[in-house]
Amino acid sequence: MKSMGNCFANIIVDISHEKVDRPFQYRIPDALQDALSVGMAVMIPFGRGNNLIKGYVIEITDHAEYDESRLKMVDSIVEGGISAQGDMLRLAWWIKENYGSTMIAALKTVLPVKKKLKQIVKKTVVCKVDAETAGIKAEEYESKHQKAKARLMRELSIQQILPQALVTGKLNITTQTIQSLEREGIIEVQTEDIYRSTLPKNIADGWQQKTKKQLSEKQNEIVDRIATDFREGIRQTYLLHGVTGSGKTEVYMELIERVIAEGKQAIVLIPEIALTYQTLVRFYQRFGDKVSVMNSRLSAGERSDQYERAAKGDIDIMIGPRSALFTPFERLGLVIIDEEHEGSYKSEGMPKYHAREVAGELCRMKGASLLLGSATPSLESYYRAKSGEIKLFELKERLAGGELPKVYVEDLRKELKSGNRSIFSRRLQTLIGDRLAKGEQTMLFINRRGYAGFVSCRACGHVMKCPHCDVSLSEHTDRYRKTSRLVCHYCGYETQGVSNCPKCGSKYILGFRAGTQQIEELLHREFPQARVLRMDADTTKNKDSYEQILSQFANEEADILVGTQMIVKGHDFAKVTLVGVLAADMSLYAGDYRAGERTFQLLTQAAGRAGRSALPGEVVIQTYQPEHYTIIHAANQDYEGFYEEEIAYRDLMLYPPVAHMMAVLVLSKDELSGMARSRELADRAKHCCPDKRPVIIGPSEASIGRINDIYRNIFYIKHRGYQVLVDIKDDLERFINTMQWESDSVQFDFDPMNNY
Ligand code: ADP
Ligand code: ZN
Ligand code: ZN
Repeated sequence: MKSMGNCFANIIVDISHEKVDRPFQYRIPDALQDALSVGMAVMIPFGRGNNLIKGYVIEITDHAEYDESRLKMVDSIVEGGISAQGDMLRLAWWIKENYGSTMIAALKTVLPVKKKLKQIVKKTVVCKVDAETAGIKAEEYESKHQKAKARLMRELSIQQILPQALVTGKLNITTQTIQSLEREGIIEVQTEDIYRSTLPKNIADGWQQKTKKQLSEKQNEIVDRIATDFREGIRQTYLLHGVTGSGKTEVYMELIERVIAEGKQAIVLIPEIALTYQTLVRFYQRFGDKVSVMNSRLSAGERSDQYERAAKGDIDIMIGPRSALFTPFERLGLVIIDEEHEGSYKSEGMPKYHAREVAGELCRMKGASLLLGSATPSLESYYRAKSGEIKLFELKERLAGGELPKVYVEDLRKELKSGNRSIFSRRLQTLIGDRLAKGEQTMLFINRRGYAGFVSCRACGHVMKCPHCDVSLSEHTDRYRKTSRLVCHYCGYETQGVSNCPKCGSKYILGFRAGTQQIEELLHREFPQARVLRMDADTTKNKDSYEQILSQFANEEADILVGTQMIVKGHDFAKVTLVGVLAADMSLYAGDYRAGERTFQLLTQAAGRAGRSALPGEVVIQTYQPEHYTIIHAANQDYEGFYEEEIAYRDLMLYPPVAHMMAVLVLSKDELSGMARSRELADRAKHCCPDKRPVIIGPSEASIGRINDIYRNIFYIKHRGYQVLVDIKDDLERFINTMQWESDSVQFDFDPMNNY
């Protein structure tokens, strides 16, 4: 019960626009005094017309900020609206502050379920007469040419209860027909509430805990150190650096068990693409129905059920991608982020938050521990580990799956010199042939990001780079003038396309383009006997095709799987003994500062696919730049070596994690005003804290300059202090709010992961 004094509610309205991005105060009517609490969704009259719109209560107070008599009244509480816990509201505020978005957008992020849906109801059609009578009825209807009724009754004479979905679906019987039969008293439609469970059926029935694995000494030590901290009330962030198959997941599960034993709950984030059936089964077998899973395939209703179960404390563990972080656990004790380096932990929509950072804040708020795990940690996390801010653990050996594979680096420049113009090096050709002969499998991998269109010399490997940003230039061909320009995605630097290599003079300097489809065609030509499967965005448009292709390959229905980065994640195929990376350079020159890191991760993961069973594996990395430090260290599986060189580059160029970078994207309906406004904002950013001397890059037209007739201009601000960027963002936001830019909007992206 609230004291009578609390009678005003501060409310964020459900409109995502900077102008209304502040709390509005309302009076709480007597009837709602007791029912209303912080976090609830309410209907309120808004604006001149007093139309009812939705809003979220973020504060209840007895302090009127305006003349009380002029305040409007809360209309009602939204029925079935899921209310945000106080913690989640604070988290939303933190997200808004640190990533720059409206409060309502931040609220919607932490409240992934907008509305509690009705429980799913299973409907069945039940026959009220015996089988014989049903058969007679069927004949009656038949003779009256009531075909639909006849069809249903015949079916019911065989089987007395049918799912309604089958009746209206496969049997093609309308609800009118069903209702008509119901009125005749021959059938009845029964409904049954079922609590949606995400547990796979075969596991849900007859689940029992499997005997646990005896942890290795090394695993035990890690679990003990973290669990001891936990018992002693020490909460911090840990990074577990361990190659694939080194037993990280076992460590997670053991820790979760200990945390649960202390009466706490755990969230496990796994990138959607790595959320495989096998992984889930391991968790289910260990924890049974204490586990719930969130994924993008769940319907809104299924999600809402899972949230409800979590809020009620029916479950202790939530597994899922980024958004599972916002599971409303009362007793959160541990958050685990597996494959913490994954780009998918960064949100692409507004607010552009990073789940790793938000998890850090959530854990601080809740007094929980945070464990990050990866075979190739992000530079961010490793940098923090090196600085002692987070505690580092390592698992260096594979427990199962045999030895690490042998890696060959093939120099494509030499291939060209010796007359081989195929996309396959001679070594790769030989090895593919060998695997076909032995009946073993091959995976060939090409990075889709290559379409960024960097320009490199096939004779000497020279890559055209921006002199200011040290990232590769992208080729833009102008369809009117038939000439090509080379453009920097960061600063907008532009230069003419070249027809000869500035370094060696060769004419083989080209934009690098090759897709999975071309590779598939080439394979058919060079190895006509090979059975090839292709996996890319085109072949996986269908919901199930992704799994279909993988299971076909697992069943050895193909010899070679060609694909984009989709195929390098998490899947173990016992018969794969050869992995080919066709053009490692493609991801190396993606035109952004993370290209090297991403390439290292991809190469390491790709290599991890070969030789997962008793059969030894080999990996071929093809490249025009075999001397590039990323390639060298990836081939040696030397993370530490890579890290040292990469961090030096980031430091030199003021890129994250050593410094921070904020992208400011200006979206405009008008081309000229868009550019003018970006210049104005960039100028303002430069001068708003001159003593801090932020580095401004741009503005320039974004690499996709226009989407849906909205012009996109971009500029970047770099500084070593994150807070300096937040301050600049706040200043820009204030400035934007005072301007009357009807049709323009501005988006902020901190430490961006993608090109604009
Ligand atoms: P990661 O998560 O690092 O890829 P996993 O935890 O999946 O590693 O372990 C890899 C394989 O080794 C799995 O098949 C797992 O069951 C097995 N494994 C892990 N720890 C042990 C252990 N202590 N004893 C025996 N097998 C283990
Ligand atoms: Zn050259
Ligand atoms: Zn540049």
